[in-house]
Amino acid sequence: MQSVPHYVNGEFIHAEGTSPVFNPATGEVIATVPTPASDFVDDVVASARRAWETWQHSTLSQRTNILFNFRALLVAHTDELAAIITREHGKTLPDAKGEIARGLENVEYACGLTEHLKGGFSGQVADGVDVHSFRQSLGVVAEITPFNFPIMVPLWMTANALATGNVVILKPSERDPSVSIRLAELLAEAGLPAGVFNVLQGNADTVNQLLTHPGVDAVSFVGSTPVAQHVYNTATAAGKRAQALGGAKNHMVVLPDADLDIAADAAVNAGYGAAGERCMAISVVVAVGDCADTLIAKITERLDKLTVGPGHEPSSDFGPVITEAHRDRILGYVRGAAGEGAVVVRDGSDLASRPGFFVGPCLVDQVKPGMKVYDDEIFGPVLGVARVATFADAVELINANQYGNGTAIFTRDGNAARLFTRQVTVGMIGVNVPIPVPVSSYSFGGWKNSLFGHAHMYGPEGLQFFSRGKVVTTRWPQASDSQIDLGFPRTR
Ligand code: NAD
Repeated sequence: MQSVPHYVNGEFIHAEGTSPVFNPATGEVIATVPTPASDFVDDVVASARRAWETWQHSTLSQRTNILFNFRALLVAHTDELAAIITREHGKTLPDAKGEIARGLENVEYACGLTEHLKGGFSGQVADGVDVHSFRQSLGVVAEITPFNFPIMVPLWMTANALATGNVVILKPSERDPSVSIRLAELLAEAGLPAGVFNVLQGNADTVNQLLTHPGVDAVSFVGSTPVAQHVYNTATAAGKRAQALGGAKNHMVVLPDADLDIAADAAVNAGYGAAGERCMAISVVVAVGDCADTLIAKITERLDKLTVGPGHEPSSDFGPVITEAHRDRILGYVRGAAGEGAVVVRDGSDLASRPGFFVGPCLVDQVKPGMKVYDDEIFGPVLGVARVATFADAVELINANQYGNGTAIFTRDGNAARLFTRQVTVGMIGVNVPIPVPVSSYSFGGWKNSLFGHAHMYGPEGLQFFSRGKVVTTRWPQASDSQIDLGFPRTR
């Protein structure tokens, strides 16, 4: 059985695997992942710090050149990378290519680093005095990433972290770690010096060591809410800069004036794509007024035509979920929903006897706060329908939810849409767009329990997160200007 290696200082380091990596489409163990001993983690951090001594002084043109090369390699290797993702994650090949394309955007954004890292200058702020500002790297940054986007989320972080002159230690998810190793190889092929991008395999213990390690300057995390909160609290208590993106429960509001065919298509695409294992998946449709029955009929009509199967088969609309335990957890929520007072329209359990970790599309009507099927992030192909009377009720429902990652409204009424965007306590909002993941020149981040820390991911906020500013005030006095003056410096 192949153990997925670490990648440190430009070399693969093999160690005995301790936890299994499954092919979720078959249920077979296809690889293992090692758990590093704590002295190995110390060695990795020490090596990263040495690499930073040089890399922090790399020129902007050197970094730009590497990022352009890397972009070209990601494009050239898309099919190969997608196959690696599908084999360990289970998502369909087109979906895996979609995540590569969205990660690529972040590399493209970082390619403009000479523009992004331009400092400011103010001449003659006082007589003979000029001020300029610039930004520098933080040092060694730890990236801790979830299973559901094994290449896109590392690219969200890595592109800006490298552009700003940091050295990276990526701790990928132990569920689908292999693509991170190809990422490291492609970065090396693009010209990145050895030691600047490292992959440290491992589990929660490995993460916990990085969170308090004195050689780590910042932690960028994406994962579930309880772990995000723990990561943020622990890293900041240890004096590190941290951003930690958490889980979600994304609502899609459908007003009675919406085109219900368009809304049903959107609900199915965003609810069941990638088996619902997306932090921006729609998990609750909020049907306003009297549109629920018609909308549910249109959604079930579409569900009956979906094909659930292995991700590499072109006929599959969505693939398996990540593990057997996760499959059983998802089905447990649906099984328990009727007892909570909801109405199960499709229970998705007919595929559970297949080899692999498959769940069919599940649809649960009349979900409400207080029910586990509504309150918890299920992270599977389960769509709930909440029925509310008015637009104001829909906004109240969303704002009372602990999560605030994404939301959407489907309507033909521009004023209602505008009010919605202003009133909801959510970070990313779609108007007739069900998965409003911002393009890379904006930043990605939720509100409430979907983000701990203030810095959103990638784009301008990502650049700020991975760098820190300096402001220099300069004067070249002539001997004749010099005098004793113990007053506080003034500009007037
Ligand atoms: P997870 O929280 O279980 O794991 C994420 C990372 O944290 C992994 O690398 C894992 O090894 C590590 N980890 C797990 N438990 C830990 C612990 N107790 N202490 C320290 N580290 C620990 O998340 P997951 O199941 O891999 O991913 C799915 C979750 O990620 C969902 O909740 C999803 O909503 C969320 N997610 C959020 C976003 C976002 O942008 N907000 C994006 C993608 C995924």
